[in-house]
Amino acid sequence: MHHGIRKLLLLGAGHAHVHVLAQLAQHRPADLDVTLLTPFGYQTYSGMTPGFVAGHYTEAECQIPLEPLARAAGVRWVQGRCTGIDATARRVQWAATGTAPADAALPYDLLSIDTGAVLDRRRLDADMPGVSAHALIVRPIEGFAKLWPQVLEMARSRPLSAAVIGSGAAGLELLFAAEHALRTQCLPGSQFTLVTGGADVAGNYPPGVQARVLQQLKRRGITVLRDSCTGMEAGAVQLGSGATLACDVPILAIGTHAPPWLQGSGLALAETGHVLVNAHQQSTSHPEVFAAGDVASRADAPHPKSGVYAVRAGPPLAHNLMAAHHGKPLKPHHPPKHTLNLLSCGPGHAIASYGPLHAQGAWAWRWKDRIDRGFVAKYLRAASAQAG
Ligand SMILES: Cc1cc2nc3c(=O)[nH]c(=O)nc-3n(C[C@H](O)[C@H](O)[C@H](O)COP(=O)(O)OP(=O)(O)OC[C@H]3O[C@@H](n4cnc5c(N)ncnc54)[C@H](O)[C@@H]3O)c2cc1C
Repeated sequence: MHHGIRKLLLLGAGHAHVHVLAQLAQHRPADLDVTLLTPFGYQTYSGMTPGFVAGHYTEAECQIPLEPLARAAGVRWVQGRCTGIDATARRVQWAATGTAPADAALPYDLLSIDTGAVLDRRRLDADMPGVSAHALIVRPIEGFAKLWPQVLEMARSRPLSAAVIGSGAAGLELLFAAEHALRTQCLPGSQFTLVTGGADVAGNYPPGVQARVLQQLKRRGITVLRDSCTGMEAGAVQLGSGATLACDVPILAIGTHAPPWLQGSGLALAETGHVLVNAHQQSTSHPEVFAAGDVASRADAPHPKSGVYAVRAGPPLAHNLMAAHHGKPLKPHHPPKHTLNLLSCGPGHAIASYGPLHAQGAWAWRWKDRIDRGFVAKYLRAASAQAG
């Protein structure tokens, strides 16, 4: 049992935390003081970002406004970015991203981390010199979304050569979306290349899905290079084979990194630097710390880092935060073995897969559209239900 008010600090408004906020909007214990530290007044839903690039959604349609949700939940929103955690002193250092200055470190009794993963500029430049200066990097996604309209502007004055580096789901969806946008909204003649990093196209998917993706790439006249990017300079991507690819718009969508500010936090980290958590999404070293989504690694049940898993972690995380506050038993979260993957190939077509099963068509794209719009709408409703 505890006495007095306890402080719960939520870092980031990722997929699991928007669920925690919606739960708090329904019921927040009177003895729980909750603060949300996150850099933007909205959460960009990455699943809809390729649709934004393609021109199917506006930027606002891909966003969950956080201020109304935090207000409905009785949560204080601090606009800033975590820059370090002192898990021994139970404090978080942060830097302001809004107008209010960052003053003292934020103390906590309970901490929950859902800040997602990053593309660490220092590591990128060490592996591929010039990348941070010349590439359009997909994370943070908010920065990418702000820069995309400038690409469209350029492509309205001359055809471009564009390349996507990275052939995972995000890279492929962005490539199909970019090709669709430039073909339908800009001057004809732009060229597209996929640089796979040397791996197979859609290497994380079963062979049947890979074949479908290759067919879609061929249909759109997209060149595939099974080569790696080793560096960039203005107008050019250097490749591992020694060749140079002339390129106006190199989009970098490779695998992500753990946030560097976790180093030195005192929290147990996986080899990859992610927060190591147990079946309760609870730090294996600090029971008052929880983590979910791409920032965390399950020690007992490692699973791919994706939005689908981050969403699934929301309800158990919300439950366990409240249970930890009340001193009640925590519930284990069992991540699913297979998840439904809907890979959009530009608006109007998607490839659906679940474990070894796969199919494609316009119906799969409509299905994805309905799920994605439904996700955002759910949290708009959670905020307005309390306001109303
Ligand atoms: C273009 C694209 C398309 C994708 N499509 C899909 C898809 O269709 N399906 C799928 O399953 N996955 C998809 N993914 C992967 C998916 O985006 C991630 O797996 C997912 O976003 C992880 O969710 P999260 O909750 O961990 O973090 P995020 O969604 O990244 O949310 C992190 C939150 O923390 C905040 N934040 C970041 N840094 C800090 C900090 N230092 N301090 C405080 N707050 C911080 C951010 O502003 C944000 O609010 C896609 C990725 C990309 C790039």
